[in-house]
Amino acid sequence: MSALLEVRNLSVRYATARGELNAVSAVDLDLAVGQTLGLVGESGCGKSSLGKALVRLVNPSEGEIRVNGTDLATLSGKRLKASRHDVQMVFQDPSSALDPRLSIFDSIDEPLRARGELSKPQRQQRVAELMRQVGLHEDLASRLPHQLSGGQRQRVVIARALAPRPAMIICDEPVSALDVSLQAQILNLLCDLQEQLGIAYLFISHDLSVVQYLADRIAVMYLGQIVEIGDRSPFWQRPAHPYSQALIAAVPVMDPTLSRAADKQVIGGDVPSPYTPPSGCRFHTRCPQVHDRCKEEQPRLQALQTGHHVACHLYDATTGAPA
Ligand code: SF4
Repeated sequence: MSALLEVRNLSVRYATARGELNAVSAVDLDLAVGQTLGLVGESGCGKSSLGKALVRLVNPSEGEIRVNGTDLATLSGKRLKASRHDVQMVFQDPSSALDPRLSIFDSIDEPLRARGELSKPQRQQRVAELMRQVGLHEDLASRLPHQLSGGQRQRVVIARALAPRPAMIICDEPVSALDVSLQAQILNLLCDLQEQLGIAYLFISHDLSVVQYLADRIAVMYLGQIVEIGDRSPFWQRPAHPYSQALIAAVPVMDPTLSRAADKQVIGGDVPSPYTPPSGCRFHTRCPQVHDRCKEEQPRLQALQTGHHVACHLYDATTGAPA
């Protein structure tokens, strides 16, 4: 499948009163047309900063963000605004994503009006179509956001994101503010929309069971870096990085064919400060398999025989086999 998104050497650093915060460090990843890449990791690992950098809500410090070959990292002004139609974002909290004074119709119509390409009757037709696509009854068009349930509000946010016909949506914890029953409905909706419209998703979540449900590929992030990335099957069945193994071991497993990594030690402790990341492998302060080399030398992502990539000194640099 052709690459829709190609991210190379992307870093995001914030200047703060405490010093420089390394939110994202030299990230490489690809996303194919119509596919879902799940991005997982603990809170504060840089997932959201990476998502925001991809839509230029925060500016990358360095690196490339190519969408259909155009590097969004270098765009500004009108060209950046136009490129935003291709990549939309859905956030965790639908209440703060919607203007409380705008009706549901106006909320969905706003991005269409801003583009100025459709007449009013055409926009009315498009809003009605979008409401249908996300499973909202047209009677809700005149309501205000506070008159809707949390699940309905998230459907409105998704309809807004779909309005410019994007090739890709960054979904940042889109169901974590919802009840479990509503979570399943929104996840099913996202799957249906992908099937109908061929949209690609970068799906950011701290919850592996959610990612397990819908991601074709998985990327694991730790302290600003991708430590493992690959197709769903080898990843779930043979996670290679000790951090991935620990994350998977903590998930309640419904499918007995998936690895529980039950023999692996579950990690404790907190994520170290991104202001002063550990030397060598950033995971070495919590890794049950740490050895001397880990404290000195930073591991690079390398291909394993299973086809996925891992950054860990336990694997030989040339064959990808355990060292
Ligand atoms: Fe653990 Fe060393 Fe691998 Fe890092 S490089 S994950 S510390 S074994």
